[in-house]
Amino acid sequence: MNFSGTNRKQFIDALKSREYDLIVIGGGITGAGIALDAASRGLKAALIEKNDFASGTSSRSTKLIHGGLRYLKQLEFALVKEVGSERAVVHKLAPHLVIPEKMLLPLREKRGFGSLLTSMGLKLYDWLAGVTGKDRRLMLTRGQTLRREPLLDKEGVKGGALYAEYRTDDARLTIEVIKKAAKYGATVINYCAVTELKYENEKVSGIQVTDALGGTQFVVNGRVVVNATGPWVDELRVMDKSRTGKRLHLTKGVHIVFPKEKLPVHQSIYFDIADGRMIFAIPRGRTTYVGTTDTNYQQTIDRVVITREDAQYLIDGINNNFPQVHLHLEDIESSWAGLRPLIHEDGKSASELSRKDEIFTSPSGLYSIAGGKLTGYRKMAERVVDMVIENNPRRKETTKCYTHKIKLSDGQLTNIRGVRRYRGMLMKRLEAMGFEREMGHYLVENYGKQTEKILSRLNDFTDADIHLRLLKAELYFTVNKEMTCSSVDFFMRRTGRLYFNMASVLKYKGAIVNEMKSLLTWDDEQCNKDRALLEEAIKDARNFLIE
Ligand code: FAD
Repeated sequence: MNFSGTNRKQFIDALKSREYDLIVIGGGITGAGIALDAASRGLKAALIEKNDFASGTSSRSTKLIHGGLRYLKQLEFALVKEVGSERAVVHKLAPHLVIPEKMLLPLREKRGFGSLLTSMGLKLYDWLAGVTGKDRRLMLTRGQTLRREPLLDKEGVKGGALYAEYRTDDARLTIEVIKKAAKYGATVINYCAVTELKYENEKVSGIQVTDALGGTQFVVNGRVVVNATGPWVDELRVMDKSRTGKRLHLTKGVHIVFPKEKLPVHQSIYFDIADGRMIFAIPRGRTTYVGTTDTNYQQTIDRVVITREDAQYLIDGINNNFPQVHLHLEDIESSWAGLRPLIHEDGKSASELSRKDEIFTSPSGLYSIAGGKLTGYRKMAERVVDMVIENNPRRKETTKCYTHKIKLSDGQLTNIRGVRRYRGMLMKRLEAMGFEREMGHYLVENYGKQTEKILSRLNDFTDADIHLRLLKAELYFTVNKEMTCSSVDFFMRRTGRLYFNMASVLKYKGAIVNEMKSLLTWDDEQCNKDRALLEEAIKDARNFLIE
């Protein structure tokens, strides 16, 4: 069955009628990873997401597959080793989506760790993660650093370092993992909230679900239930009456996006700001984005937005490091804010809290997983599924984890050379069709070889504007193959346009909502509701300007 927004009824019927080995609550990267691990090892798995896939923290990160250099300072060697090593693994699984990116770390007079300590720290970072050859860290002179990034404040830069990381799109990565889980037989659905846990002999045995789009309620039965709800983990533990002992500590992080011409950094850069914290500036397509903050958060978790204060903090950090750019709040094109679902430790500040993941098992048998990183999703999933399998009577029929071999995304591009070759050819084809070359980056980094499926639909549409035809072809693909159910799903999490190409959202939003109306056979009321939600998302992305 196609993983399509038009097949929701069939997925819901399957959920109602089967008995699952494992039900995963939460369709962020953690839940997605668990569903894929479980289904590929032979377990009957279901995944239930209350909103859209990746609509929580997994579309609101810095979008790096990274080892977390700063965790070395906190002596988190095991964490750095695990996530650092995972970078290369996840890159191999999706080389179009997890892309090598050299990070520039400027060194300054009387700030940071100094050249010797930084050099040793980066050497340790490489060693822990098994980085070899020309990917190993490279120390730079002052001249080399300024040539790499001429916008840097020349006063005080005494040198720099280059080290290897990877950039990604967190929401696209989550969607690709979910699609693969569905391919391996997991039953997956979005817009279905778990409202109650079901018990038999005091052991959790299923969930009560409300379908937010269809309005119906139903029960899903399962031997084991895993709570992978990120910032909502404690809500589910309260539902299970097991929120005792350790608890979540949510911290907020925001990112702001500028048109490239306003902040034309040449490459990704990780620099310290006045209060000693480090932030990133990362070029992406026609934009550069900057983040992040790390502040304690106690407000509503269902709608997290950036404030004027958050935005100003980042702007000051940029203006102090890049004195020629003179950025203002009005220059910000878009933004996002997310919550880190960390585990509380008494007396520790937001930045000091560990990013390690932990699994809590309640007396009812509910497993809850909290903490962790996007980068480490595969190993987190393996640990959870190992525990689930341990207690499953069918454990002899299951296999060991092999998700390190399961390539993500259809029409695999096998390595980065293949990605570059394909992108080069595609750019020429796109140019001949009337697109700008940059579109090749956008399509390949979002969809990989699936781009061919999208382009093959271009001629189904008769609009004179080729960009609108492309958008409609993308919409057709993401509705039918990626369970897109709303225009926010499409513009924010399937295409990233709401963050990185706001102009295209503003220009084509009306046409896309109308196209969705016919694809998903909406009535006027559904259509108006969708339009209002899209306007709200656009407003949230520039909320700080009207506070
Ligand atoms: P989420 O993505 O929040 O998923 C939980 C899901 O559960 C949500 O979609 C929610 O709707 C659903 N849910 C909740 N309640 C219910 C219910 N009752 N029924 C059904 N579904 C429910 N990590 C990195 O590796 N690299 C980075 O660059 C990076 N940068 C970060 C920057 C910031 C600002 C933040 C906040 C985090 C960053 N992280 C990064 C960490 C990473 O993003 C998170 O660890 C990860 O996304 C958490 O995923 P998750 O699936 O656990 O949670």
